[in-house]
Amino acid sequence: MTGLRPFTEQTVLVTGGSRGIGAAVAERFAKLGMNVVIHYLQSHEAANEVARRCMNHGAKVMTVCADLNSKEQIVAMRDKLEQRGFIPDVLVNNAGISHYGLLSDVTEEEWDRVMDINLKGTFLCSQLFMDRMISRKYGRIINVSSIWGISGASCEVIYSTAKGGINAFTKALAKELAPSGVTVNAVAPGAVDTDMMSGFDPAEKEAIASEIPAGRFAAPDEIASLVYFLALPESGYITGQIISPNGGWLT
Ligand code: NAD
Repeated sequence: MTGLRPFTEQTVLVTGGSRGIGAAVAERFAKLGMNVVIHYLQSHEAANEVARRCMNHGAKVMTVCADLNSKEQIVAMRDKLEQRGFIPDVLVNNAGISHYGLLSDVTEEEWDRVMDINLKGTFLCSQLFMDRMISRKYGRIINVSSIWGISGASCEVIYSTAKGGINAFTKALAKELAPSGVTVNAVAPGAVDTDMMSGFDPAEKEAIASEIPAGRFAAPDEIASLVYFLALPESGYITGQIISPNGGWLT
């Protein structure tokens, strides 16, 4: 079977890898001995701390800064990776931003920003990094979407739309790339205990948790488990799927 190389010979790029779900994903792959690229936007220190933890597991690690709102910076990131010999076999499009508020109050700038970082960032990274996967006849693209991209959420209309777009992008690109041995899937979490939920106070978080059959938020590492499974060389027949780890919230 083409491309069935062990993880230890593979490279993963995790966007938004300096914290939250992305950091858990990076560390999970580092434990398996993969070469790990940690992309970050704001905090060099946070990215270095995740890199240090990954290196403690024996992984070869690179950190790279880029604003996914800028095609120029994404191209520069791709070039830096190539120069250092980090050619991703696995791309985890994890970086994203949320937005909370009634649609009647949403500005055009807010709409553009949520679409650009979540949806356009996923498009640009996939487009730039898939070429080498296609030529190798092997690759895994895993997009971090959201439960709201499946069901929609009140007061999160633009975020739900962006994540719904990622789901459609995932299904369509999976069909385009399947003949090349590249799988494309999306992980659509429910509520996960990360900085993204820091806008909610403890009482609000408790109210959200009470709606979830599992009675709690997911830990980032529980999302990393699914990303890991989809990245496995042996998961090559799973493509175009939107899988939602959500504690039974949406079945
Ligand atoms: P987080 O806020 O900790 O992580 C978001 C990451 O995206 C950060 O590393 C941030 O630096 C990066 N990012 C934001 N804007 C960027 C930009 N312009 N350029 C480059 N990077 C940028 O939150 P998280 O929960 O770890 O989020 C990770 C992913 O999971 C996101 O796509 C989010 O939408 C998705 N998600 C989160 C939850 C949740 O409950 N936390 C639920 C469903 C989906």
